[in-house]
Amino acid sequence: MTEPARFDRGHTDDLMTFLAASPSPYHAVANAAERLEKAGFRQVAEKDAWEGTSGGKYVLRGGAIVAWYVPEGAAPHTPFRIVGAHTDSPNLRVKPLPDSGAHGWRQVAVEIYGGPLLNSWLDRDLGLAGRLTLRDGSTRLVNIDRPLLRVPQLAIHLDRTVTADGLKLDKQRHMQPVWGLGDDVQGGDLIAFLEEAAGLPAGEVTGWDLMTHSVEPPAYLGRDGDLLAGPRMDNLLSVHAGTAALAAVASGASTPASIPVLAAFDHEENGSQSDTGADGPLLGNVLERSVFARGGTYEDRARAFAGTVCLSSDTGHAVHPNYAERHDPTHHPRVNGGPILKVNVNNRYATDGAGRADFTAACEAAGVPFQSFVSNNSMPCGTTIGPITAARHGIRTVDIGVAILSMHSARELCGADDPFLLAGALAAFLER
Ligand code: ZN
Repeated sequence: MTEPARFDRGHTDDLMTFLAASPSPYHAVANAAERLEKAGFRQVAEKDAWEGTSGGKYVLRGGAIVAWYVPEGAAPHTPFRIVGAHTDSPNLRVKPLPDSGAHGWRQVAVEIYGGPLLNSWLDRDLGLAGRLTLRDGSTRLVNIDRPLLRVPQLAIHLDRTVTADGLKLDKQRHMQPVWGLGDDVQGGDLIAFLEEAAGLPAGEVTGWDLMTHSVEPPAYLGRDGDLLAGPRMDNLLSVHAGTAALAAVASGASTPASIPVLAAFDHEENGSQSDTGADGPLLGNVLERSVFARGGTYEDRARAFAGTVCLSSDTGHAVHPNYAERHDPTHHPRVNGGPILKVNVNNRYATDGAGRADFTAACEAAGVPFQSFVSNNSMPCGTTIGPITAARHGIRTVDIGVAILSMHSARELCGADDPFLLAGALAAFLER
């Protein structure tokens, strides 16, 4: 029997707040943690000894978070049900010696993170956000959320080939933002500016992980407001939905049949190989320590992992009205049509038939429609943390997500209903 929907447009409203407040992976996990705290979850430190109590807990490491809820009566071998996602998005990131400039312009030297649609970063008002590391090793989040930088596009009058040949951007020469005027560029200017903005003494910041973001807030779009335009939906949309789903399931948890988990990793956009990426040991360590903290043995760990399922949630491609031929002719996911099940027989996605059945049951329980996505055989297929999670931990994994347009643009586009339909499906999956 289908229950009344747990999530509605209020979820999408909250997603807009979450997106705007999460210009970096570090902000995203802090905002996820804040929502989990309100649901009764408490942070545990990796360096501490863990106790095997029931309830909600989470681990923060850099731009990654793993949160789980142990129901009353769960055994050491109780399997996990995991929602996986990633916190990072393609953008422009500050280089180690950022202060540069030419011809009277002050500029910030940036590297290209992941695979952004470079053109989408031109002529936007950009802020700067991320993490500052202080002399004592502590970190401080920073967010200059006002127009601070801009990558100015060359005027068409000076680029007569652009109309015929399209825009060609060189990542090194053409993507360096300006942030003011002056011929007296000094090494240390940018960090001194950020120290002052963060209320820190000069010279206190000795390390940084900083990135640009569009300061334009997310907005409902379209005749009927049934679309949502905003940044970083790939993949904060899933991080937010997974957080909401875990909080909802924990508040009503009564069945000890499984332990619901949220695992949101950094560095998906450049291959997941880091201490906070899906190809690192973070998730496996947390799950194992949870088993052992409850008095489990290695046998219990093996039994728990054997019964564990992961839903890897990420964005996918909705059918594009101007480029329908790029999609498979019979698989045309539509926005607001519900979450998508992603299939690729060459394991770019981890979904198999058993995984499809698991996801089908979750969607049916939630009363949520879903759609199928597969690539056109002549087009390359993206990938996710799904195959990595399956291979690294030996966990059955299903790739799903939400169909959007303009993936990897500085401003993406999705349906306004799909985020809460996804959250409903994730919650039903976590409590199966
Ligand atoms: Zn993604």
